[in-house]
Amino acid sequence: MADHSVEITEGCRLPVLRKNQVNEDEWPLAEILSVKDIQGKKLYYVHYIDFNKRLDEWVTPDRLDIKKLQFPKKEAKTPMKDGLPGSRPSSPERDVKRKAESVSLATQVTAATPVPSLPSSAEASQASVYPAMRDSSFSIKSRDEHEPLTSLTTNGTTSIQRHLIPPQPGRKRKSCGGTDEDSQDSSDGIPSAPRMTGSLVSDRSHDDIVTRMKNIDCIELGRHRLKPWYFSPYPQELTSLLILYLCEFCLKYLKSLKCLQRHLTKCNLRHPPGNEIYRKGTISFFEIDGRKNKAYSQNLCLLAKCFLDHKTLYYDTDPFLFYVMTEYDSKGFHIVGYFSKEKESTEDYNVACILTLPPYQRRGYGKLLIEFSYELSKVEGKTGTPEKPLSDLGLLSYRSYWSQTILEILMDLKSENGERPQITINEISEITSVKKEDVISTLQYLNLINYYKGQYILTLSEDIVEGHERAMQKRHLRIDPKCLHFTPKDWSKRGKW
Ligand SMILES: [Zn+2]
Repeated sequence: MADHSVEITEGCRLPVLRKNQVNEDEWPLAEILSVKDIQGKKLYYVHYIDFNKRLDEWVTPDRLDIKKLQFPKKEAKTPMKDGLPGSRPSSPERDVKRKAESVSLATQVTAATPVPSLPSSAEASQASVYPAMRDSSFSIKSRDEHEPLTSLTTNGTTSIQRHLIPPQPGRKRKSCGGTDEDSQDSSDGIPSAPRMTGSLVSDRSHDDIVTRMKNIDCIELGRHRLKPWYFSPYPQELTSLLILYLCEFCLKYLKSLKCLQRHLTKCNLRHPPGNEIYRKGTISFFEIDGRKNKAYSQNLCLLAKCFLDHKTLYYDTDPFLFYVMTEYDSKGFHIVGYFSKEKESTEDYNVACILTLPPYQRRGYGKLLIEFSYELSKVEGKTGTPEKPLSDLGLLSYRSYWSQTILEILMDLKSENGERPQITINEISEITSVKKEDVISTLQYLNLINYYKGQYILTLSEDIVEGHERAMQKRHLRIDPKCLHFTPKDWSKRGKW
C-alpha cells in the first residue's frame, strides 16, 4: 500500500495494520519513530498512538495506510519529533515546570474525594484530616443496602494517578537508560495509570529517539525465551544479535550459545547471590545488597529494563536492596521476579521497581511480590508505599492487592452488641502496613465510603463481598510470615552503604 512518491519520515502519523487480541485486523493510528533501509527494502518502526509502547514494532510498507498520511506539524524550539512530548530534550525550565505540576497533581489524588472533608491534599491528610476521620470513627456496615451518596469514578482516579510524577530525588545517580514518561499516556485496554518505578525516574538527558525503541530482539534465560518490550541499555554491539544469552543464575549476558556454555562451566551459582531470607515450598526470596553484589544488581537492572518502560537504569545500585523471588527445581533456583527497595527512604517507599518476568505473569506471582514487600514493612514496623509512577500493569496488581487485603480485614470484623463494627483508617494501615493514602484511595476506588447521618460508613455490597470471595479462592500463592527470616538493618546508622 505504500506509495513511493511520498516520503514517509519520522514523526509522520498514519493508520497501520495490526492484529488485535482476537487476531482480527485493525488500523489504529500510529506514529513513525524510525525508518531503516535493508537491501533496498524499507522498514518502519511504529508506535500505536493509543496503545502501550510495548506494542511498538517494525512493520513493512504494505501495512501502512498511506492515503491517510499526516505530516508532522512544526513546533517552535522542538528540534526533534513534533507532537511527541517525550522526545523533546530535557531543559531546566521544563523540569521546574514538571516539578510544579507534580505538586499540584499530587494534591488532586485525594482532592477528588467523594465525601466532604476527606483529605484534600496529601499533606493536609497527614496533618489534620486523618485525626478528624479517626475521631468520627468508621463504622463498617456489612451487606448494607444504602446507596452510595457520591462516587469517585475509575476514570477520575486513573487519569489523575497517571500524571503523578515523583519529585526529583535529592541524591544524584548516574543513569544510562532513558525515559519518556509523557510519550504514552495510553494503554492497551487496561486502565491507564502510573508506571512501575519511581525514585529511578529522574534523568531525562538520555530521553532521545534511541531509547524509545526496543533494541534487543530476544533474550534466552534458562529455559525461557523472552521478547523485550522496551529499550534496555545493553552494549550497542549486542543489539544486532538475534538472541542475547543470559546466565539465568548470575544474569551475565553473552553474545552466543557457545559463550554461554563456556560461562556455565565456570559459573557455579545456582541461585541469586545474597541471603535466602524466605523459603516455603519451591518459592524462595533472596536479599541482595546493591553495593556488595554490584555486577549482579546491574545485570538484573538491565534485564528488568526490557520490561519496565519508565525506569531510568542506574549503574549506581549502592543505595538499593534487591529482593529476588525464585522457584526451585532440581537444576536450581530460577528467577521469577524481583523488586528493588531503597535502603533508606524518606518518603516511606517500600518498593522502587517491581517486575514479574513475562513467562510467569498472570499467575499470581506479582501479588506475591507485593505481599512480600509489605511483610518486610511489617517486620520493620513501618507502613510503606510503592514509588510512583507505577506502570499500567503495576497499578493493576497493586489495586488488586490493596483491595483484597483491605476487604479481608473488613470482612473479618465482628459486630459487638449488635452495633456496627468499627475500625479507623489508621488501624487498617497499621495492620496491613499499607500507607494511609493507599488505604483511602482503595476505599474510594472500591466506592465503599458513604457519608450517612454525620458518619462515614463503609458499605460492603453483596457484589463486592462475592467478588472478593471468588478472587480469594483463586489466590493460591500466599506469603507465610513464619517462613520469613529477616532482620531489618538501620542503614542510617551505617554512614555509608
Ligand atoms: Zn553465571
